[in-house]
Amino acid sequence: MKVLKFGGTSVGTVKNMQHVKDIITDGTKKIVVLSAMSGTTNTLVSIASDIFNKTPNQAVDTINKMHESYFVVIDELLVDDSFNSDVKNYATEIFNFLLEATYLEYSKNLENKILAQGELLSTYMFNAYLKQEGISSSLLPALDFMRINSAKEPDLVSIKEKFGGVLETTPESDIYITQGFICLDENDDVSNLQRGGSDYTATIIGAVIHAEEVQIWTDIDGMHNNDPRFVENTHPISNLSFDEAAELAYFGAKILHPQTVLPVREDGIPVRLKNTMDPAADGTLISSDTSENGIKAIAAKDNITAIKIKSGRMLQAYGFLKKVFEVFETYETSIDMITTSEVAVSLTIDDDKNLDRIVSELEKIASIEVDKNQTIVCLVGHSIVSHDSTFKLFQILQDVKIRMISYGGSRNNISLLINSNDKITTLNKLNDYLFELVTL
Ligand code: ASP
Repeated sequence: MKVLKFGGTSVGTVKNMQHVKDIITDGTKKIVVLSAMSGTTNTLVSIASDIFNKTPNQAVDTINKMHESYFVVIDELLVDDSFNSDVKNYATEIFNFLLEATYLEYSKNLENKILAQGELLSTYMFNAYLKQEGISSSLLPALDFMRINSAKEPDLVSIKEKFGGVLETTPESDIYITQGFICLDENDDVSNLQRGGSDYTATIIGAVIHAEEVQIWTDIDGMHNNDPRFVENTHPISNLSFDEAAELAYFGAKILHPQTVLPVREDGIPVRLKNTMDPAADGTLISSDTSENGIKAIAAKDNITAIKIKSGRMLQAYGFLKKVFEVFETYETSIDMITTSEVAVSLTIDDDKNLDRIVSELEKIASIEVDKNQTIVCLVGHSIVSHDSTFKLFQILQDVKIRMISYGGSRNNISLLINSNDKITTLNKLNDYLFELVTL
């Protein structure tokens, strides 16, 4: 069986939902994972932050507007009276829950429950639509099987067992629809797989059912070789290995949630990225195939903070790096890039929530310099570190100020840290020369 995930824009309008219906009704049984309609999760985040900021009237306004716009969609999508009123009743319960939430004290649990409503709405609505169109479909409630543990990792053993149970008790159908993103945590509270996490839901399900393939349907025709928002002449990459895709997703290629390929990599279950608006386009196939060498793609990740930790006296001593890493562990902050010299260590983080506390801890053992507004530019390709064209890099970037460079951490990645102001120029230069649109 295949698992197909459709993102926010794919279910963002009635027309797009009709496209999704055409794509999934090819006569084969499948599991369909849906995101919330585009914009909905952002709106829910704003409702939660109004509750946090004690501006409930603003939240109530937003909820009423959301209610109205959902009813417009429901009227357009569900022309059959009984489906129409059933979905309106369900949606009204959700909007009532949100209105009640505006009277409550903010808590992370409340926020997570609020954020879960988008996927609950989209799946309920879409399932009713398929039934109205005479298609055999059933809902598999994600909260009945999707679970993360205390380390916020998917609990694959429990998911597998529970998913089997849910499937057994669900009426036999051609299409099984479930919510992306949402899950329970180790205390059985509603939680989620982080923003964009519906991709992750799809590959987790793919792994537990040992799917034939996982397809991620978005509004772009695959993973591009550079960021199309900043660079012209990019093109979709037809094949990527799991490692290449993981590096790209982590370092900024927005099309995939960073953890997406992890659950399926070990079993070699292919992941295909496809475009709902252009289903005939090839898209990108992510698989175990590592036969192509050389630079395949460039991605950039913004909002990076670089921290330089300088201590000539301590660096040569055993255990200095251990002390440094312990500080980051204490504040649950992961490190992206790291470079060392005899007298200093530079590293980067993208989550600067605890920066002040991290810096004051580090100041006990070394002198610290912090640079904000940095960007990681990441070059990815199988065996990129030994490919001929890689050595042009320094020539190409001779006018760009590089703050850090990471080479050899893996064979498939070279990362550069630059000032964010230089990002667009750097991406364009690399694009022109590395992909040989212009020769040096
Ligand atoms: N709806 C969630 C978000 O907007 C999850 C997803 O779309 O993947 O982040």
